[in-house]
Amino acid sequence: MEYKPITKPAIEQFAVEPNLGEYDGARQSITWEQIRSELDGHPGGGLNIAYECLDRHLKTNRRDKVAMIWEGKDGEQETYTFEQFTKEANRVANGLRALGVEKGDRVFMFIDRVPECYFTAFGTLKLGAVIGPLFCAFGPDAVKDRLEDSAAKVLVTSPALWEKIKEIRGDLPALKTVVLVTRREEAKPAAGEVLWDDVIAGQSDEFETVNTDPEDYSVMHYTSGTTGKPKGAAHVHNAIIGHYATGKYVLDLHEEDIYWCTADPGWVTGTSYGMFAPWSNGVTSLIHEGGFSANAWYGLIAKYKVTVWYTAPTAIRMLMKAGEAAAKKHDLSSLRYTMSVGEPLNPEAVVWGERAIGLPFHDNWWQTETGAIMIANYASMEIRPGSMGRPFPGIEPAIVDDEGNEVAPGEEGDLAVRPGWPSMFRTYWNREELYDSCFRNGWYITGDRARMDEDGYFWFIGRADDVINTAGHLVGPFEVESALLEHEAVAEAGVIGKPDPVAMEVVKAFVALKDGYEESEELRRELRQFAIGKLGKAVAPREIEFLPGMPKTRSGKIMRRLLKARELGLPEGDTSTLED
Ligand code: AMP
Repeated sequence: MEYKPITKPAIEQFAVEPNLGEYDGARQSITWEQIRSELDGHPGGGLNIAYECLDRHLKTNRRDKVAMIWEGKDGEQETYTFEQFTKEANRVANGLRALGVEKGDRVFMFIDRVPECYFTAFGTLKLGAVIGPLFCAFGPDAVKDRLEDSAAKVLVTSPALWEKIKEIRGDLPALKTVVLVTRREEAKPAAGEVLWDDVIAGQSDEFETVNTDPEDYSVMHYTSGTTGKPKGAAHVHNAIIGHYATGKYVLDLHEEDIYWCTADPGWVTGTSYGMFAPWSNGVTSLIHEGGFSANAWYGLIAKYKVTVWYTAPTAIRMLMKAGEAAAKKHDLSSLRYTMSVGEPLNPEAVVWGERAIGLPFHDNWWQTETGAIMIANYASMEIRPGSMGRPFPGIEPAIVDDEGNEVAPGEEGDLAVRPGWPSMFRTYWNREELYDSCFRNGWYITGDRARMDEDGYFWFIGRADDVINTAGHLVGPFEVESALLEHEAVAEAGVIGKPDPVAMEVVKAFVALKDGYEESEELRRELRQFAIGKLGKAVAPREIEFLPGMPKTRSGKIMRRLLKARELGLPEGDTSTLED
C-alpha cells in the first residue's frame, strides 16, 4: 500500500512542541514508513497490535511501568505493569488456544470494563484471532445479529450479561464456547460454557505472539447504516501505525502522562484510543468501570492525577449541567490537555471547558471505518470552536459533490477521505458490495456532510443519511423498526433521531397499529419495554408516538425525512414521491 508522506512542515504546524525535537535536524520529512519504523515490528517480520502495545515494552525500562490503572464500579483498584499485563494476556492466549481458537477466528467480548476485557482483547490479538467488542447495553437481538454475521467462535461475557441474552445461543451454531468471567458473580457453567478461571488455570504466562501480516484482520466493530443490519467494519493489524501516530501527535501522549479515555470498548474509540494508542505509546492508561457522575469523574482525575483526557460531547454537556462549581470542588490541576470526539462539540462547550476546568476541549473527527483520528484541533493549534479541526498530516480529506469532485471552500458537500491510510477499514464483513459502494471517484465517502473553510478547517454539518447519533453512538433506524415490527400490535414503524439538548439526538419511533389494536399509554410502555428487551437500552426508542399511518413513497418506503420534518415543524421539502 502506498502511503502519503507526513511532511515536516505539516508536523511543525500541527504537532506539539515537545515532540518536535525528535524531528529536528537530519530529517526533512516524516512518512508513514518512518512512523512505522518507530514501532518494533514482529521479530518474524510481520506486525501485530498486541506486540506493539505489550511485548515490545518488555525489552525496555517500561517493563515495570504501570500500563493500566483500573478502578472498579465499587471503588476497587488494581494496577498492572506492562509485564504483568503481558503475562495475563499470554495466559488468555494459551487458554483460548486450548479452546481451539485459531488465527483468524473471531472472539467477541460482551463484558464490562473489567481487566478481563482488556486481557481478552490482547490475548486474542496475540493469537492472531480477531476481537469483536460489544456494548453491554445491547439486548439479545443486537448481540445475536453481530455474533451471527461474524460467526464468532467464542464469546467472553459475565454470568449476569449472559443471562440477559442466552436465549440466542440456539441460533448461533458457530459459537462453540461461552467464557464466563466470575469476577462479580458465581456461575455454574452449562454445556458449552466454561469459567474464565478454568480457561486460564494452569496456563503458562509465556506466549509467543503470532507473527501476523500487517493485512491480517485484528478488530471488528459493528456500525449502523440507514438500511439493513449493522455491518462489521473489519480492521487489520496495520492500523496500529495510525493509532500510534495519532496517539503521539493528536493525543500528544508523553512518557509521563496518565491518560484517561472515557469511551467503552464496545465503540471504536474505546479500542483505538482506550487501548491501542496509549499502550503502543507506552503510556499509563486509566480504565474506569463505573458509569457517568460528574463528581466521580472529577474525583478520578484528581485521584489519579490524569494529565490527558479524551471524552465526548454528551459527557461534556452533562458536566456542564452539573455546573462549574462541581468542577471547582476538585483539584484538576494535573490536567494539561483535553479532547472530545463522537458528535459535534458545541462552541459553548469548548469555552465552558476553559472556565470550569481551565482547559478548552479540542474536538477531533473520525469514525469506525477510518479506524483512527483524521481531523483534529491539535494541542499546538489555535482552536476554532465549533470546528473539527484540520487534517492529520498524511491524511487527505476533502468536501466533494455528487460526482466526487472537490467543491470550493465554504461550500457544503460530502466529507470524503482519499484512501490509503494505515488504519482504514478493509471491508464490511460479508458485505463486499456495500464496502465498494462507499467509494466515489477515488474518494472514500464518510456519510457525513461538512464544509471546509479557507484555512483548511473542517466544519461538521450533519449526516448524509438517516443514521441517528445518540450520545455519540450510531443507531440504525432499520434495526429499531425491525424490532418493533416483531410486536403483534405493530403494522408499521418509522424511526428518527429527535434533537436532544444533552444526547444530541434520542431515538424516536412512530408506530402505526394493526387493526383491532387501540392506542394507549399502556401499549406505548409495552412497546418500549419490548424494544428494550430485544435491542437493549442503547438502541431502543426513548419515545414512541402513534400515527394512523406512515408517510410512504409510492414504492412503499417509509419517508423518515418527512417524519423528521414534521416532528421538528420544518418545511417538508420535496414530497413528489409521496404516496397519495
Ligand atoms: P462511529 O463510527 O460510531 O465512531 O461514529 C462516527 C460518526 O460520529 C461520524 O461519521 C460523525 O457522524 C460523528 N462524529 C464523530 N466525531 C465527530 C465530531 N468531532 N463532530 C461531529 N460529528 C462527529
